[in-house]
Amino acid sequence: MSKTLDLTKELISKPSVTPNDMGCQDLIMQRLKPLGFNIEKIDFGEVSNLWATVGEGNKMLVLLGHTDVVPTGPIEQWDSDPFIGTERDGLLYGRGVADMKSSVAAFITACEDISSEKIPLKGKLGIMLTSDEEGPAEDGVKKVVEELKSRGINIDWCLVGEPTSEDVLGDAIKIGRRGSVGASITIKGVQGHIAYPSKADNPIHKSMIIVNDIASLKWKDNTGKFPDSVLQISNLNSGTGAENVIPGELNFKFNVRYSPSITAEKIKEEVENILKSHEVEFESEWKESGLPFLTEEKELIDAVTSSIKEELNLKDVKLSTEGGTSDGRFIAPTGSQVVELGPRNESIHKINESVRVNDLDKLSKLYKRIILKLLG
Ligand SMILES: [Zn+2]
Repeated sequence: MSKTLDLTKELISKPSVTPNDMGCQDLIMQRLKPLGFNIEKIDFGEVSNLWATVGEGNKMLVLLGHTDVVPTGPIEQWDSDPFIGTERDGLLYGRGVADMKSSVAAFITACEDISSEKIPLKGKLGIMLTSDEEGPAEDGVKKVVEELKSRGINIDWCLVGEPTSEDVLGDAIKIGRRGSVGASITIKGVQGHIAYPSKADNPIHKSMIIVNDIASLKWKDNTGKFPDSVLQISNLNSGTGAENVIPGELNFKFNVRYSPSITAEKIKEEVENILKSHEVEFESEWKESGLPFLTEEKELIDAVTSSIKEELNLKDVKLSTEGGTSDGRFIAPTGSQVVELGPRNESIHKINESVRVNDLDKLSKLYKRIILKLLG
């Protein structure tokens, strides 16, 4: 019988689709209280956030996670109820089991083991959870970090439980993430009859070369840790639907996932310079949804990789920067080292999301080893 398996199942049974926590954090509070944690709810709007700390000392390690999950998609396509943790053929199925309720459960059982073995900590251990990682992420970790900053609380190391493993548990961790910036651009023309083009101004014709120039933009990565940054057009719309009307405008949208070698400001400048050089009238709306980060200091990376090697007998651990954004983006700018380590990510956000049942206890022991390496 496994405490981590049981707690993961209990968390899965609470249908905590963003931003609803559905009592996940209450359950975790009940588990952390007997371990001597100081526990606070730092809620904003409809988002639940939990901040718990234990121990004394100069250094602080924070375990960062989220209790919210993405929607299930069509329930009839699941082989079992997504909100009942179900074991089949060595796998545990349920929405959020990999992203990231099993990591949250493993954080808690690792702390329980350290407490029951009465191992003293020579620093502070914090647990930060939010119910808004999968959504807009405005009222979650971002605001909790601001609150902690205003209290003068400094985080040295942050271990994020996001699912990072590829083929086997621990084979890959994330030491950075790309930033994300996007825009919606509208190029103006003049609507008119297709038979009288001289009386209209066709925004489709004008846009072809502009869109091509913008789609060809590329920014080199100089860190050696990220791919080069490229721009991807996701939407392109114009036309009234009628064959005999020249439309009045064309809109296109794009996103750039970018490395720390470039900034969102520079990307914006280059895109708008192309638009200006073609002397078109345009409107642009920009959205920055995450800054890039890269942990280059060795302390936390070494603690995590050596723990993986010792606990799981793995020879190599991939230091990855792939994938989308995570809440690590809000912690890294405070100066904290940030590393992400969690279960296999192959099934996340999919129908029949799952983790290997055997990985649950291993993950708990792994987190315990990392905590003790840094604070034991
Ligand atoms: Zn996640």
